[in-house]
Amino acid sequence: MSEPTLFERIISREIPADILHEDDLSIAFNDINPQAPHHILVIPKKVIPRIGEAHDDDRKTLGHLLLVARKLAQDLGFSSTDQGFRLVINNGNDGGESVPHLHVHLLAGRQLKWPPG
Ligand code: 5GP
Repeated sequence: MSEPTLFERIISREIPADILHEDDLSIAFNDINPQAPHHILVIPKKVIPRIGEAHDDDRKTLGHLLLVARKLAQDLGFSSTDQGFRLVINNGNDGGESVPHLHVHLLAGRQLKWPPG
């Protein structure tokens, strides 16, 4: 058996996190190093290391992560065109991934720049 990922240890409550949402497929919690006034990670409970390793049968889980992120953004008041938000998935080293457990970053609460660094 491989070691549990950092995020599996958050799911199991071994590592504390500020959890904002949980359901049978996903969990969402505040990022420990926020890059915006709101910076939330939405992750699947099933370990998918990264989007590049997702399978066709992960379709439901992947769609679910986006809809959870949308709901969290709406609940925080970021539902208008003006008060927008950004969803980010980093994949692999060049993509900036540091935790090998798929996660969607939800960033909101400031004007975000494009392109990202
Ligand atoms: P990545 O760089 O893989 O796209 O994003 C990983 C994210 O996980 C980073 O934004 C980082 O701040 C966050 N992170 C790393 N360790 C922890 C932790 O122990 N708790 C929480 N809540 N976030 C973490």
